[in-house]
Amino acid sequence: MKNYHTHTKLCKHAQGMPEDYCRVALQRGFTDVGFTDHTPLPDDLKAHIRMEREELPLYIGSVLKARKMYPQLRIFLGLECDYMPKYEWYYKDFILERMHMDYLIGSVHYYDFRGELMWFDGRPMHPLQYKIYADLYIKAMESGLFKFMAHPDLYCTNVYDWNKDAEECAKAILEAAQAMHIPLEVNTSGMTKAKAQNTTRLPYPREEFWAIASDYDINVVMNSDAHKPECIDDFFTEGKELILRHGLREVPELFPRF
Ligand SMILES: [Zn+2]
Ligand SMILES: [Zn+2]
Repeated sequence: MKNYHTHTKLCKHAQGMPEDYCRVALQRGFTDVGFTDHTPLPDDLKAHIRMEREELPLYIGSVLKARKMYPQLRIFLGLECDYMPKYEWYYKDFILERMHMDYLIGSVHYYDFRGELMWFDGRPMHPLQYKIYADLYIKAMESGLFKFMAHPDLYCTNVYDWNKDAEECAKAILEAAQAMHIPLEVNTSGMTKAKAQNTTRLPYPREEFWAIASDYDINVVMNSDAHKPECIDDFFTEGKELILRHGLREVPELFPRF
């Protein structure tokens, strides 16, 4: 088993350090663990849900420490990056190159709509918002910075009844992923969230999104987006079932062995 989307307590809304995740991963038969905590940002956007900039060396050190402690595992150093065009230089020149990351993953958790910062809090969306989300998500892919793109169907958190705008948003993202050969993530943490909130309504992975995805020639990568060590393989059985149900293709090796 593999998980390439993992957080740590440094982001202020998760538990455990890399060594704690790796201990559980090893017990559960994992071969690969990739750490991708929320990147600190130059303008401190939503600083309360990410590590401090000064903590980057501590974060990197903790992943390298886990790598030493668990040589049986392949452990990768990365970060989850909130994409906005204004951060591109920072991700490329500072985070990726100067901090020697193995990889970055791209996310769109926030976007500007009519001068207001929006996120996925369950509020129904204006048709234009779907378009803005899709455009930003595609721009993130075009930046070439990301190994894969996280939860493309996150916007479905705000979609109650599947509709034409939601469908067009899905198609735009899927078409771009196919053209650019960038894997898209089946993120099982939406199931963890639904369970915690005691609801059957999954924010993601969204069935309708992945049903459309089956028409495209894309790779997917399944991750738990774990925010607690024991959640490292949360809902992997259900995630695999979804992948099979829609005939999706998992990326054979995100990090090929040489
Ligand atoms: Zn998080
Ligand atoms: Zn995440």
